[in-house]
Amino acid sequence: MQDPATLKDVTIIGGGPTGLFAAFYAGMRGASARIVDSLPQLGGQLMALYPEKYVFDVAGFPKVLAKDLVRDMTAQALQFGAETRLGETVTGLRRENEHFVLETTGGDYPTRTIVIAAGIGAFEPRKLPLDGVEQWEGRGLYHSVLDPRAFEGQRVLLVGGGDSAFDWAVNLQGIARSVTLIHRRDQFRAHEATVAQVKALSAAGRCGIHTFTEVSAIHGTERIERVTLRHAKTKEEQELAVDAVVPLLGFHSDLGAIKEWGLDTEKADIKVDQLMQTNVPGIWAAGDITSYPGKLKLIAVGASEACIAVNNAVHWINPKAKVNPGHSSNLAIFGQSED
Ligand code: FAD
Repeated sequence: MQDPATLKDVTIIGGGPTGLFAAFYAGMRGASARIVDSLPQLGGQLMALYPEKYVFDVAGFPKVLAKDLVRDMTAQALQFGAETRLGETVTGLRRENEHFVLETTGGDYPTRTIVIAAGIGAFEPRKLPLDGVEQWEGRGLYHSVLDPRAFEGQRVLLVGGGDSAFDWAVNLQGIARSVTLIHRRDQFRAHEATVAQVKALSAAGRCGIHTFTEVSAIHGTERIERVTLRHAKTKEEQELAVDAVVPLLGFHSDLGAIKEWGLDTEKADIKVDQLMQTNVPGIWAAGDITSYPGKLKLIAVGASEACIAVNNAVHWINPKAKVNPGHSSNLAIFGQSED
């Protein structure tokens, strides 16, 4: 583990795809880098929300599983020795002499510049509105599906009407012993095609769907054994035997301490100029967190913004370093001969 007191050139808040690409670019430019993320793993939304989904619009991949893209982006990002501080949330920022000190729940990190690649903020899944629901975490209550094999042979209850709930109703077929989906309304936010697929599975007896239904209680001893379901209109209750409950109700996100740094924002996003600079000198932003006319919140766009942000940060630290990185295919750092 690297000494936290080491002054880094660039500290990147967020280890999603944008933060990973920023770390790569910092290394390619010979700048030292550190990534801080509140999640226990790198990959941002891709690992937290849709590791098993295919992504079709990343350059160079006709299709790639989100988790595989993160694996390769991580290998690319960390090849120059970037430090990672995972499971740490940013709590503050102060200036000391000529540099910043980024404060997190895990320590204080000196840095010359900061690239905020915090996506939608440090995010937490919305929980079932039941008293004491946390007691079931690790005992059959899951807030995301990271590895579908964890549900092998289980009776799974999915709660929600969005893409995640419907995607997993399809993707757990053949893995889970049974799948039931409940939603508190009869309108679904999920993609029409997936809704049609799940309705067809239901008609074939392979997936239960209950609308206007919510979980009113969870029961079990060591682990979840059954739930009480309540009809939202008639208030009638019924019990359902299940092994796993997976609420997929979206998530709250919070920029937390970053909101206090005097950054110009638009709604929850940080305003940047064409150089991905914020209004605070020494702080850049990239990825889903940024706002400017024409902004698109996509992996490809975040990568491009990371490249612009880091190259400008490198030039800001050392004005003799060009902003333009040159072509990687010609760089000595990759063992190529410089033109
Ligand atoms: P994020 O991925 O959100 O990563 C930000 C990271 O910052 C997180 O890990 C978070 O924990 C961390 N963080 C935030 N605040 C703090 C803090 N205060 N302290 C410490 N850490 C912090 N895009 C595509 O281009 N193609 C697709 O097919 C596609 N499919 C998608 C499917 C779904 C279901 C979803 C939800 C999104 C999809 N996206 C897709 C969008 C894509 O995932 C985002 O554009 C991308 O993740 C943005 O990357 P990012 O690194 O900017 O932010």
